[in-house]
Amino acid sequence: MTTNSFATKKAIITGAASGIGYATAKLFIEKGFVVGLIDADKNRLESISKEFKQDGYDCYYRSVDVTDEINLKKAIDELTESLEGLDVFFSNAGINGTWAPIETLTISDWDQTINTNLRSTFLCTKFAIPHMKENGGSIIITSSINGTRIFNNFGASAYSSSKAGQVAFTKMAALELARYNIRVNAICPGAIDTAINGKTKYSADLDEVEIKVEFPEGNRPLKNETGTSEQVAQSVLFLATDASANISGTELYVDGAESLL
Ligand code: NAD
Repeated sequence: MTTNSFATKKAIITGAASGIGYATAKLFIEKGFVVGLIDADKNRLESISKEFKQDGYDCYYRSVDVTDEINLKKAIDELTESLEGLDVFFSNAGINGTWAPIETLTISDWDQTINTNLRSTFLCTKFAIPHMKENGGSIIITSSINGTRIFNNFGASAYSSSKAGQVAFTKMAALELARYNIRVNAICPGAIDTAINGKTKYSADLDEVEIKVEFPEGNRPLKNETGTSEQVAQSVLFLATDASANISGTELYVDGAESLL
């Protein structure tokens, strides 16, 4: 088995400078993983790396845009070399992008969301395979409850399509990569209190139809709080280790049963 002990795990995390990716990096290193961090935000990566090193942990990072295939491949290859192997890949970087009616959503806004969320997951998986195929491993992909269930998130056609694409991709990849003992699973968070939600670009057209995204805070079946990145990180940890050895091709909801509403 390749994914037995926490201590020998080598993991790359994208979107590691904030929110779910940062919480996962922190949890992973506390559990004895060595981590390689990827994000577009160079300043945050530098300060996180300092923070981890001050706490006595090894940490490597590359500042790269996950839609840039040449530099992404270079970053994954270099980080794998620094880590001396790759057991776990967490494809997590993502954006909410622009939410607009389909009629007015621009093609470039559509492309930006699909490329950042879905194309990057394909690229990360593609570039991780050569490093994992000999010894096996675990790939975890952050999708969303929006990937499998359409709420009244009017204007979220690009985001929901990218997240649904990630779930379909997870299943195809799980089937294809089982031959290498590489497991592939998706995490589907509900509303999580991170910076992403403040970065959504709402088109003015949405005001006209008086529909905007409302995260159902105070309306969650499990408890009346928004979920946290730390809760998601615990589920990523589960999928990263042999605690989930027989699980591949599935999506794990971390949403306080929000998707059942
Ligand atoms: P976040 O904004 O806190 O973190 C996202 C990170 O991704 C940021 O550090 C950002 O710099 C990085 N990133 C964005 N585009 C990038 C690019 N092109 N190249 C490299 N890095 C890039 O948000 P988060 O909530 O932690 O989001 C992580 C994932 O969780 C995303 O895929 C998101 O769709 C998913 N998700 C979030 C929620 C939520 O409510 N927060 C719900 C469901 C799914």
